[in-house]
Amino acid sequence: MSHPAVAHTLPSYLQADRLGPWGIYLQQVDRVTPYLGRLARWVETLKRPKRALIVDVPIEMDDGSIAHFEGYRVQHNTSRGPGKGGVRFHQDVTLSEVMALSAWMSIKNAAVNVPYGGAKGGIRVDPKRLSRGELERLTRRYTSEIGIIIGPSKDIPAPDVNTDGQIMAWMMDTYSMNVGATATGVVTGKPVALGGSLGRVEATGRGVFTVGVQAAKLIGLPIEGARVAVQGFGNVGGTAGKLFAEAGAPVVAVQDHSGAICNAKGLDVPALLAHVRSSGGVHGFAGADALAPEEFWGVDCEILIPAALEGQITQHNAGRIRARLVIEGANGPTTPEADDILHDRGVLVLPDVIANAGGVTVSYFEWVQDFSSFFWSEDEINARLVRIMQEAFAGVWQVAQENQVSLRTATFIVACQRILNAREMRGLYP
Ligand code: GLU
Repeated sequence: MSHPAVAHTLPSYLQADRLGPWGIYLQQVDRVTPYLGRLARWVETLKRPKRALIVDVPIEMDDGSIAHFEGYRVQHNTSRGPGKGGVRFHQDVTLSEVMALSAWMSIKNAAVNVPYGGAKGGIRVDPKRLSRGELERLTRRYTSEIGIIIGPSKDIPAPDVNTDGQIMAWMMDTYSMNVGATATGVVTGKPVALGGSLGRVEATGRGVFTVGVQAAKLIGLPIEGARVAVQGFGNVGGTAGKLFAEAGAPVVAVQDHSGAICNAKGLDVPALLAHVRSSGGVHGFAGADALAPEEFWGVDCEILIPAALEGQITQHNAGRIRARLVIEGANGPTTPEADDILHDRGVLVLPDVIANAGGVTVSYFEWVQDFSSFFWSEDEINARLVRIMQEAFAGVWQVAQENQVSLRTATFIVACQRILNAREMRGLYP
């Protein structure tokens, strides 16, 4: 709804016919709007990012040439606190994608009630094609370029697809050099020796496992013996797979960028993790049969964990999924059409905005530890993580029952109410 003085309902950069992942996010907001009551007056706030920065990232390559990369940092909302969200290095990164990911961070942070808004960054690059020196120069220049909008109380980046503790260390160092003082709280997901938190690396996978077990109980699915299929075997899928296998739920199929594998008796997860570490993917793992990648979605299993990229479960494969429970380790893996198909078929989807919130929850612990320079034990961190995830999930489950809506819409109801309440209480400036 726009005032006559405003020429367009949407800012020009949001008017393309195909909005990509941002378009999917907008559909999700539309689904929640009828449940927002008086707060619906503020819903436009959620339909445009607060701030989006596009930066040119030039670096000298090892061969002496100069290469330019496209970088982004989007702050979707800061009503509840500073921006917070990861940085993704991927050749397919687009502004639409980073905008959607930043918005999902706003929802996620509000859903688990950590005091953050939502933000996300990315560079359009295939980091596997860079040397270590090139990767470091790229990271440092990007950090310098977005340095005008990030900071421990402004916007706090973290790892995401293809970024890790080493990249966070370079980001922290670059920002610190620029401001003239070591600022550990400017990024999370740092190495433990540099103000990182114990348990952060495994946190997203542990959160996926925690809500998965809770949901399984609610639908009467025994974890012992439940067959699990995982897409993406990196930080999120690998950890979640390991925890499910340890709980007696065999991982029967895994797909990643290198191919797909299966073993009806259950894969040896520690051996597979070692294989992925040494060879870069699941392809060629000795203890499994190869599976045609498109067959992955039809694998016989009870639990399916998409833990790779967005837009993976679509109207084309949702009808083939045999799982009873889909746990979204990735951000945005299911399209709205696929959501509806799965719902109609009685498949329960645990949405990204709650299921993978374990990572940012322990990022919050890391940030708090950095500010107080007092570090907690891993047991304490894991116990607090599990408590926050379980309480948040129980709340969302109740809202879903009360309103007879999907868990995604329920999570959006809880989160949007928190964000827009803060928006309303703060009021507009000027
Ligand atoms: N990239 C992770 C996510 O999508 C973690 C973000 C963070 O820790 O700030 O939730």
